[in-house]
Amino acid sequence: MISSLYFLGGAGKYKYEAERLITAFFPSERIELCFDSEPKGDGWVSLYADDEHLQAVLSDGDRKQLSLPSSKDGGRDELLLCGLMYDLLKEHTGISMPWGILTGVRPVKVIRAAYDKYRDRAGEYISDVLRVSKERQATANKIISAQRKAVERLCDNSVSLYVSIPFCPTRCSYCSFISSAGNALKLKGEYLKLLLCELDIYRELIHDCGLTVSTVYIGGGTPTVLEPDELSLLLDGLARFDLSSVIEFTAEAGRPDTITEEKLRALKRGGVTRISINPQTFNDDVLKNIGRAHTAKQVYDAFSLARQHGFDNINTDIIAGLPGDDTDSFHYTLERLRELSPENVTVHTLSLKRSSTLFYKREKANISGAAAMVEDAARLLESAGYYPYYMYRQKNIADNLENVGYCKSGRECLYNIYMMEELQSIIAAGCAASSKLVDGSGIRRIVNYKYPFEYISGFDKMLDGRAEQLRKFFTRSI
Ligand code: SF4
Repeated sequence: MISSLYFLGGAGKYKYEAERLITAFFPSERIELCFDSEPKGDGWVSLYADDEHLQAVLSDGDRKQLSLPSSKDGGRDELLLCGLMYDLLKEHTGISMPWGILTGVRPVKVIRAAYDKYRDRAGEYISDVLRVSKERQATANKIISAQRKAVERLCDNSVSLYVSIPFCPTRCSYCSFISSAGNALKLKGEYLKLLLCELDIYRELIHDCGLTVSTVYIGGGTPTVLEPDELSLLLDGLARFDLSSVIEFTAEAGRPDTITEEKLRALKRGGVTRISINPQTFNDDVLKNIGRAHTAKQVYDAFSLARQHGFDNINTDIIAGLPGDDTDSFHYTLERLRELSPENVTVHTLSLKRSSTLFYKREKANISGAAAMVEDAARLLESAGYYPYYMYRQKNIADNLENVGYCKSGRECLYNIYMMEELQSIIAAGCAASSKLVDGSGIRRIVNYKYPFEYISGFDKMLDGRAEQLRKFFTRSI
């Protein structure tokens, strides 16, 4: 058992990546990090770096050691040292990580950058230095090629707009989002009023800085927890923006138990072109296990109602590794999805975060089956004509896997691509919303207060100086 990670010589500066990588191998262990002290006993890994060489040692009864000359480039040395540790841990545990030493949220972005930098030699770099498996490399390649058209559609001076509705009818047991249910729903009215004020600030800013809006995304939470008149109020507020250049307008209608004809009409009237209706599973027992408070039949009913109201671009989310699910019942979910034939399917892998109630009952989740489920999803969806178009990973994700968005031909969600690949600035309004300012020099984030009560009570303080801050960024970067 490995319980400590030692950093010797100058290796301490690689602590962040090294810790994330060792945690991926031992997700439920607490690994002690030790600096400036020599390893004692057994059950440790040590990393050493100086100007001349890099070395990783693993001791657990037996002692194994790997070393390499330093490349004399800090960024590359970090990867090389993590690679040495990866090889030792792989041999020690018998586990191969699908994404090799990549532990971050956006592996496709890293692989895209490798193609830009190494051109013909990129494949070698991705396999040999990053240790990404051939299968994941192939998936990343498909995604990069699926994203090409979306990238071409990006205009200079364009931004996307994100609007957060942080309320849900009840809280799902696996949820780690900032979303309030129960008594907090009483705050909806006050929240909406202030959200519209925040949006007004951004509307003026977009106009004054000569920006255009290319996509709008109303997320949550569950935006359709709003009553029809509240939804209309929000959509009327958004209609005050110049939306003439918007090519995609999404609203999450994730929980089928919140969807009604009146709400669908309000969304349609407000210009929404794409919605999400999320089954997560078509197995009623699993739905009960995760506290979704709706049935599979409600998903079919909501889906058919949305089609009747003219929604021809629908996403459905499902999750691999849910408690009570197994590979057969997950396959059943996939078959039902194929019949339903949504334009997008997003296959999530269960990620257990401390802020979810399921984290504390994690032995009930079928985490060990998640890899087979994800493979089954890829096989079945690709044979049904879908292809992967975006991907991201989360902390504590089962089997170190990923979340993959699949789409039918030409139905990529542009917002998902722009946001996940950090290709465009996103102006975000509402609770826990994070605006991302992207320019040639990097990415800056401006984060709003997390919870509705904070957002309401601290609204003026939160937005103090915000317009000037954004104005400065956009007038400088255009
Ligand atoms: S519907 Fe979505 S946001 Fe709401 S509690 Fe469930 S997982 Fe969380």
